[in-house]
Amino acid sequence: MELAKHGADVVVVGAGPGGYAAAFRAADLGLQVVMVDARGRPGGVCLHDGCIPSKTLLHVSDLLTRIREADRLGIEVGEPRVNLDRLRSWKRSVIDRLASGVAHLARQRGVRMIWGRARFLSSGRLAASGEISAEIDFSHAVLATGSRPVALPGMPLDNPRLLDSTTALDLETIPESLLVIGGGYIGLELGTVYAALGSRVTVVEMLDGLLPGVDRDLVRPLEKRIRSLFEAVHLRSRVGSVRETGDGLEVELEFPGETVTRRFDQVLVAVGRRPNSEGLGLENTGVTVDAQGFIRTDTQCRTDDPAIFAIGDVAGQPMLAHKATREAKVAAEVIAGEESSFEPEAIPAVVFTDPEVAWCGLTEAEAKAAGQEVRVMRFPWAASGRALTMRRSEGMTKLILEPDSGQVLGVGIVGVHAGELIAEGVAAIEMAALAEDLTLFIHAHPTLSETLGEAAEFFLGQPTHLFRRPRRRRS
Ligand code: NAD
Repeated sequence: MELAKHGADVVVVGAGPGGYAAAFRAADLGLQVVMVDARGRPGGVCLHDGCIPSKTLLHVSDLLTRIREADRLGIEVGEPRVNLDRLRSWKRSVIDRLASGVAHLARQRGVRMIWGRARFLSSGRLAASGEISAEIDFSHAVLATGSRPVALPGMPLDNPRLLDSTTALDLETIPESLLVIGGGYIGLELGTVYAALGSRVTVVEMLDGLLPGVDRDLVRPLEKRIRSLFEAVHLRSRVGSVRETGDGLEVELEFPGETVTRRFDQVLVAVGRRPNSEGLGLENTGVTVDAQGFIRTDTQCRTDDPAIFAIGDVAGQPMLAHKATREAKVAAEVIAGEESSFEPEAIPAVVFTDPEVAWCGLTEAEAKAAGQEVRVMRFPWAASGRALTMRRSEGMTKLILEPDSGQVLGVGIVGVHAGELIAEGVAAIEMAALAEDLTLFIHAHPTLSETLGEAAEFFLGQPTHLFRRPRRRRS
C-alpha cells in the first residue's frame, strides 16, 4: 500500500469535541494542523455515540412525558404512538448535520483530516493506518482519544440483548423490560429515554444512592420522580450471572440479603468509562499513564513528553466534553507559545434526566469533608411562580457560600432546565461574585433564574417569596 507522508506543526489524535477544538484553535493561531481519527467522520463519541444522540432521544422522551401529563393541565390527548424508523432517522439527521458542519469548519481552516488509527513511532513521528497509510512528522501532538464503556466481567458480550451506551442509542427495538446496571449518568439518562418510550425499566446500583458523589439534596427529587417512572430501583445491589434463555436474558440479582432471578428483554451496562490510552505506541514516547490508564498531564495539558499534550477523557476526570473543549484551547495556545493554563474554578456537570441535575464549584459534602465552614442556602421551587406555571415545583436551587463575605463557592440545581440555569452559577464562581451580587442582578420575571437571586437573598435576610421566622435569641 502506498504510504503518504505529511509534515505538521501539530498533529491531533482524535476528532471529538476535544480534538477538533484543539485543531481549530491551533489553525486559528497560524499553525499547520493534521487531525487523525479512525471513525471516518469528525465528532467523536460525543457527537456520534454520546451527548448528541442521547440528548436527541431525551428531547423525545421529554415530549412524550409532557404529552402524557398534558391531561392534568386540561389538554386531552391520546397515548402518543412512536414511529421508531422516523425517530431514528431524525436522530441521524441531527448527527449528520453536525458532523458535516464540523468537517466543513475543518476545511475552511485548512485542517487536514486523515481517517485511520494512529500510532506513535517516536516523539516526532506518527503512523496512521486506515484506507490509506500515512506517516506524519510533527513538532507537537495533542492526544484526544477519549474513553470507552467499561464492560462487566462474565457478561455475554456478543449477545445483541446486552447493550452498552453506544448500542442502546441505536434503538433497534423498544424492549418491554430493560435492566439498567449502574445508576450513574448514563444509566439514568438512557433509563429515562427507554421508560418514556414504554419500557419497564429496572435499575440496579451497587452503592447506597443513585448518582454517587452528587449532592443528596439534588438527587432526592430526581430519585422520587424516577421511582414513579421506572418499574424498580434497587440500591446496594449487584448483578451476578447473566444467561440467554432464547426469549430474553435471565439475570441473577443480588439484593441486600437475598438473590433472585429475573428475566429481561434487554440489559444495559452503564458502569463507567475508561480512557483510551492503549495501542497508541505511547511506549515509543515519553508519555506516561496513571494506574487508571489516564495520561498524566500538567495544568498546561502537557504530558511527560514535552512534545505531546493530552486533553479530555484520556487525560483524567471529569469525563465531560466541555472540559475537553477548554483543555483543547489551552493545549493549542501553549503550543503556539501563548500563556494559557487549565485552572478552572468551576466545571459544570449536568445530568440530563427529568428533572435535570446540575452543579458546579464546591459541594456541601466536599466542604464538610475538608472541614471548611460554609453557609448553605436552599430555595425550593415551590416558591417559584415560573416553576408552578410548568407544574414542576419539585426543583431546588442551592448555594454554597463563604460564611463571612457570602462569596459564591458552589451552586447546585435540580429541576427542569437546570442544565441551562447552571451557567449563571459558573459565571458567579469564576467572577468571584458575592451572594449580594446575585441579589443585585435583575433576573427576568417570571423565570426559573429568579431562584438563584432568591436563594442569595437568604444570605442578606429574607427572599421576597419565602419567609422564615428568625430564630429567637436566648436571653
Ligand atoms: P458513572 O460513573 O456516572 O456511573 C456508573 C454507576 O455504576 C455508578 O453509580 C457505580 O456505582 C455503578 N456501578 C459500577 N459497577 C456496578 C455493578 N457491578 N453493579 C451495579 N452498579 C455498578 O458512569 P456512566 O454512567 O457509565 O458514565 C460514564 C461517564 O460518562 C460519566 O462519569 C460522565 O463523566 C460521562 N457522561 C456524562 C454525561 C453528561 O455530561 N450528561 C452523560 C453520560 C456520561
